[in-house]
Order: sequence, then structure tokens, then C-alpha cells
Amino acid sequence: MFKHEKLQLLIFIVLIGLQVLGVLGLLHRFHFSYLPVMLVVFFWGGISTTLYLHRYLTHRGFEMPEWLKFFFATGSAVTLAGDPVMWVGDHRYHHLKSDTDEDIHSPVHGFPYAHMMWLVRKPPGFRERSKRYAADVRKIWYCRLWENSALYVLPHLAVATALFFTFGFAGMLWCIYVPMLLIYNVTWAVNSICHMPRFGYRTFDTSDHSRNNYLIGVVGFGEGYHNNHHAQPRCAAHGLRWWEFDVTRYVIWLLEKCGLAWDVVWPVASESEGKDLAPPSNEAVKFAPTMTKAATSL
Ligand SMILES: [Zn+2]
Ligand SMILES: [Zn+2]
Repeated sequence: MFKHEKLQLLIFIVLIGLQVLGVLGLLHRFHFSYLPVMLVVFFWGGISTTLYLHRYLTHRGFEMPEWLKFFFATGSAVTLAGDPVMWVGDHRYHHLKSDTDEDIHSPVHGFPYAHMMWLVRKPPGFRERSKRYAADVRKIWYCRLWENSALYVLPHLAVATALFFTFGFAGMLWCIYVPMLLIYNVTWAVNSICHMPRFGYRTFDTSDHSRNNYLIGVVGFGEGYHNNHHAQPRCAAHGLRWWEFDVTRYVIWLLEKCGLAWDVVWPVASESEGKDLAPPSNEAVKFAPTMTKAATSL
């Protein structure tokens, strides 16, 4: 059982330290000049996690130009969302083993593990397994480079340093660590709260405990409609009904209209549900071929 594994102290200190910096920011005086930068960091970091790491890189729900992939990949690195190989490998495994003993961020192990502690007590072979499940991601040169933690932290350190010299210590805390505090906890809540029976509703009768949670859907760029997502992992939209506000879906739609996204796996409109949207066909919700290959190689 992974909960008895040795605590990875350095990662624990870093994760707690980053959040302490966010809380420390909230205790410092706010200045309105910070606001535009905060919004840019929050939106760039948040959408980079949901649109790039999750809907594009993990599930291949659409395609986009190389420069745009790099732009979003950099956004995820600036907010230290996790190196893409580990992120994708772990998340693909989550979809295969949701809410079983092998799903290390399921609430079946308790809320703290589902939320954050899984990051600091990983089972033996976790990294090797992630590499196998994300073999396609390892072919991307910057994702391969970022497997080295010393290189992965560089975009974050560069932005934090620039903010420090522009706005001072308090400004740096407000502009980058406060948005990161929110992004982290909302992202982790998708693993924890959106798999807890009490919080949310189910649209699809999936084999896991996933729920749609409206609040996390709104704050988390649409990721909170997690039951919809488990029912149809490749679909680029997680919010399916008109009132399920899904910012990531709208951004992908906008990119498609501008010719910057194509081969998008959209849900098909359901005649029986009026304006509501039905899941795409089974054929459309399969994982990427590389994922299927990785899964069968276990
Ligand atoms: Zn899940
Ligand atoms: Zn997913």
C-alpha cells in the first residue's frame, strides 16, 4: 500500500512552501497594479493545465500548431503544474484504475491522499510506469527536458524573478503565488472532491465514483464536470449542458474558429435532449492509440 511508502520530504516541503507563499501573499497589502498580472498568470497557468496537459496531451481531444503547444506547455511550467510525462502517465493510469486500490489519488484512500498527499508518497516504480504510459509525450523535446527537475523549474524561477524586480516581494507573492495557490487546490479538488459521493451529481453511470461539481467546474476552467469526462475521456468539452460553464471548451472552440485547433472531438447534439448535449459515440471516446498501446504493454 503506497500510504506506507517513505515520505518524499523535499517534494512535501516544496508543495507546502509554495502554498505558504500564496497565503503569505494574502496577508500582504494588495495593490490594483497587481491585478492584470494575476489574471494573466491565473488564466495562462490554469488553461495550460486543463487545455494542454489534460485535454490535449493526455487525451488528444484535438490538434493545434506546435508553437501554441509550446506556449501552453510553458504556462504549465511557469505555475509548476507538474512535468508533462509524470502528469500524463499518472492521469492515463487514473482513467484505467479509477477508485480502485491502484488509483493513488482516489478518496478511497482518504481525502488528504486524494487531494495532495499522493504526490509525496508515490508507490515504487511510479515514475517508470508514468514513462511507459506517456511514451508519446517523451518524444516531445521540451517534455523530455523537463523530466529533469532542475530544468523544469527554470520558467517558473524566471517569471518569479522578473515579478520580484518589477513589483517587489509583496507584488511577486500576489502576482504568481496567490494564483498558484488557487490553481493547485482547484486542480487537486478534481481528484478529491469530484470523486466523493456527497459532492455533486452524476449524469452518466460510470464504473467509478466520479461526480460533476458545478463550483469546481466554474473555478476550474470546466474540469469539475468530471463524471461527464470519465464517461467520454477524449471529448474536448467537459461541460455538456448549456449551463455547465466550461471555459476550456470555449477557448478550444475559439481556437477552432480561428483555425488554430482542428480534429476536435466535440459531443454530438442530442435530438431527444433539446439543447443538451449527448456524449460522442464510443468510437470517438477511445484513448489515443499510443495510450491503448501503452495500456496493453503492462
Ligand atoms: Zn477522475
Ligand atoms: Zn482525464
